[in-house]
Amino acid sequence: MTHRAARPTSAMTLLLGMVLLFSRVAIAHAAKRPPNFVIIYADDLGYGDLGCFGHPTIRTPHLDRMANEGLRFTQFYSASPVCTPSRAALMTGRLPIRNGMCSDKRRVLFPDSGGGIPADEITLAEALKSKGYATGCFGKWHLGHLPQFLPTNNGFDTYYGIPYSNDMDRLADAGPKGRAAFWDPKIEYWNVPILRDTEVIERPADQTTITRRYTEEAISFIRAHQEEPFLVYLPHSMVHIPLFRSDDFVGKSARGLYGDCVEEVDWSVGQVLHTLRDLNLDEQTLVFFSSDNGPWLTFNEHGGSAGLLKDGKGTTFEGGMREPTIAWWPGRVSSGRVTQELGSTMDIFTTCVTLAGANVPTDRIIDGVDLSPVLFDEGPTNRKSVLYYRGTALMAVRFGPWKAHYFTQTSYRKDSRQRETHNPPLLYHLGHDPSERFNINEEHPEILAQIDALVADHRQNLEVPASQLEIPLPAQSE
Ligand code: MG
Repeated sequence: MTHRAARPTSAMTLLLGMVLLFSRVAIAHAAKRPPNFVIIYADDLGYGDLGCFGHPTIRTPHLDRMANEGLRFTQFYSASPVCTPSRAALMTGRLPIRNGMCSDKRRVLFPDSGGGIPADEITLAEALKSKGYATGCFGKWHLGHLPQFLPTNNGFDTYYGIPYSNDMDRLADAGPKGRAAFWDPKIEYWNVPILRDTEVIERPADQTTITRRYTEEAISFIRAHQEEPFLVYLPHSMVHIPLFRSDDFVGKSARGLYGDCVEEVDWSVGQVLHTLRDLNLDEQTLVFFSSDNGPWLTFNEHGGSAGLLKDGKGTTFEGGMREPTIAWWPGRVSSGRVTQELGSTMDIFTTCVTLAGANVPTDRIIDGVDLSPVLFDEGPTNRKSVLYYRGTALMAVRFGPWKAHYFTQTSYRKDSRQRETHNPPLLYHLGHDPSERFNINEEHPEILAQIDALVADHRQNLEVPASQLEIPLPAQSE
C-alpha cells in the first residue's frame, strides 16, 4: 500500500498556489473598492406607516426584513417638513437655508419655477464621482426641472423619473374639481412628464406603473454597474397624493389605497435587496431607507400616519420631520439593532462621502455628520442637535432629548397661517413625552439657556442667499 495518492503532486501544488494568489488579489481588490450606496426615499411616508415601525394593518415584510437584518433609527430626521428643501438637504448635506432651497412664500418648486439647485452646490453624486462611482437617479427629483438643474447636470450619469411632485401639472378640465380629483384619481388628471435624462419620454406619466418602473430602472442600473462602485438614488413618487399602484397591488392592503401604495414601495425595497444579494453585492452595499417628510394628514385616509408623533407634513412638530429610517449593510451593520441615537438625512451625505474615501467639502458649512459610530455600533452619534426649519424660520431646536419650540404652526389647514410665538419657548422632553404634550419650560430654564446658546452659535455663521423657489420661469424666447 502506498500513500502517494494522498500527497499533493507538484501540479496540484501549483494549482493551489494560483487559487490562493487569485483569491488574495480578489480580496485585496474588494477591500480597495469603496462600498456601493443605495438610498431609497419614500415621499410623504409617515413615521407610523411601516410594519416595523408599528403600523397595525399595513404589511411591509421586505422593510421588516431589512430592519431585522440592519439598523432601525427611531430618532432620525429630515431637514425640512416638505419635499424640495428636504431633498436638497439630502443631496448636499446642508440645511436648505444655506443654498436658497427654501422659501416663506412658496413651500416647494413648481412647474412654473425657474430656480433649482445652485450650480456651485456639491451633490452626493458629484462628491462620489471623484472616486469613480457610477451614479443613477430613478424617481422624483424636485430640485428644479430646467435642464441645468436636472440630475444629469448635477452628478448623475443617468436619470429616469418625474422631475417634481406627481400632483403638479393639474389639468383644470380633467376630472372633478379640487380635492375630489384625489379621491378616485385618474392618470389623465395630471399632465406630469417622465424624463429620461433631460428628455420628456412620456406625458402624462402612467403613474399606475411608476413604482414598478423606477424599481426596474434601478435594478437594471445595478446589474449594469456591478463591477464598479455605484450610487443609486431611488426617490419614489409614492406615497404622495394622487395615489397610484400597479394591478398586482390593487386591493391588496387592509389599509386601502394608501396601504396598497406603501406595500408596493415595500415590494420595491425587496426587489432591490434581492438583486444585491443575487449579485453578491450585499456585503459591499450600504442601503438607507427613509422619507422626505411626514404624512399629509389633511388628505384624510389618502395621507399616512405619524403614529404617536404630533402633526405631520409641513410642520416642525415631530410628525412632520421624524422619519422611519433603516440602514442595511450585511456583515458591516450588525443585524436587528434599534438605535435611539440622533440622525439626519443630511448625515447620509457625510457618511457616504466619508465611507467612499472622498473629501467632505471644507470650503462651506456642511451640516451632515458621519454616522459611522452609530452604524457600526462603535459609540454615540456625532449629531447632538436637530434644527427644525420651516422656510427660513428656525421654528424649533432639539438638543439631546429636549426640544424647544420658538414658534409653532400647523400646516395645510384653514388655521395654518396662524404662527404662535413662544417666549420663553415651549419645552418638551421627547424621551418622556414623544407626542409633545407636556410643556415643562418653567422647570428647566437651564436647558433653554443651552438651546439659546446653540441657536446663537448657529446664527453666527449663517449666510442666507436669495431663494431659488421664488424665481419665476424665464420668458420663452421667440
Ligand atoms: Mg414629500
